[in-house]
Amino acid sequence: MNATKNILLLPGDGIGPEIVAEARRVLEAVSVRRGGVFRFTEDVIGGAALDRCGEPFPEATRQAALAADAVLFGAVGDPRWASVPFHLRPEVGILGLRKDLGLFANVRPAVVFDSLVQASTLKPEVIRGLDLVIVRELTGGVYFGEPRGIEDLGAGERRGVNTHVYTSSEIRRIARVAFDVARTRRKKVCSCDKANVMEAGLLWREEVTALAKAEYPDIELTHLYADVASMRLVQNPKMFDVILTDNLFGDMLSDQAATLTGSLGLLPSASLGVSDAKGFRRAVYEPIHGSAPDIAGKGIANPLATILSVAMMLRFSFGWNEDADRIDTAVRVVLDSGVRTPDIATPGQPTVNTKGMGDAVLEALERPPEGRS
Ligand code: NAD
Repeated sequence: MNATKNILLLPGDGIGPEIVAEARRVLEAVSVRRGGVFRFTEDVIGGAALDRCGEPFPEATRQAALAADAVLFGAVGDPRWASVPFHLRPEVGILGLRKDLGLFANVRPAVVFDSLVQASTLKPEVIRGLDLVIVRELTGGVYFGEPRGIEDLGAGERRGVNTHVYTSSEIRRIARVAFDVARTRRKKVCSCDKANVMEAGLLWREEVTALAKAEYPDIELTHLYADVASMRLVQNPKMFDVILTDNLFGDMLSDQAATLTGSLGLLPSASLGVSDAKGFRRAVYEPIHGSAPDIAGKGIANPLATILSVAMMLRFSFGWNEDADRIDTAVRVVLDSGVRTPDIATPGQPTVNTKGMGDAVLEALERPPEGRS
């Protein structure tokens, strides 16, 4: 029998509550199938937390996240709180969550569904069948390195400083995530750095190469300079299976890869912490898009990125690959059958609302594979 898994739901702001509600229904369906395995708790973060507690990442939410087996996050960001001091902005909620849970690895698939090829700005033959994953280091590098700051040099001159720094162990732990993900896929990792101009990049390349040789001889490892990788992503994105990269380059390459798919509402992500001795790791699963205040409250947001984040949770946190595959397949079946929320519909195409899309996924999940069109 499976032990109970405690799932913390953090819907957040804007469309967050609408999309998390649909993802919860999918989790409940998995739970029923497995004999009631999930226990859900819900808490506030972002603007919703500011409304209730006066801070974007309250201590109670932090404690609940630390105690959870996995966290499903919607989005934060509320225009009503846009002009508050930086430390009170809703977006600080997700940064605090990532920091306090020690989430050092961001895993972001970029997949193009056949039925949505036309949504990309790239030619269909370049983009059709795209299925890559970006593994980005999330807690090190130039965004966190010391020293940092802006110095006054006098005589009207100032100096801005940030430090790009990585240690061997930081590089090895993120590389392991990439190699492990590749082992579940096509077994190819392309590591992206700037080893030609940065010492930290050279160390990155040396450590990744040594780790692959020592522990992952079955993985085909290649290296690209990050700028070249960025060009290849638009020229020939299908050459990639898993892209491994640092915080700064990953920030850019992952947004670039997401944009290639043309469908912000379809892209999930996982942020993972360090595995303990029992193999447990803290993790937050979330769509890559934001709180979409322009459509919040209208009930028309696309819940698929959040539902696909549930599939990532089942895969990464619980190792339930079969359940995860069933969700991925259900989403594909729904899209192939032409069900569309407004964001992914072509002009004149009939659309469903957020709940309608959730219904369609649940129905596809319940249908036996041979009954699927
Ligand atoms: P956004 O991703 O919220 O929206 C960009 C556009 O995509 C909008 O037109 C929106 O309507 C549309 N969109 C996004 N998700 C959609 C969905 N599921 N279904 C249908 N349409 C969808 O980005 P933004 O407008 O730049 O940011 C809005 C707020 O979200 C800001 O406060 C920003 O800071 C925040 N944000 C939060 C996160 C996060 O919580 N992780 C990430 C990005 C942005």
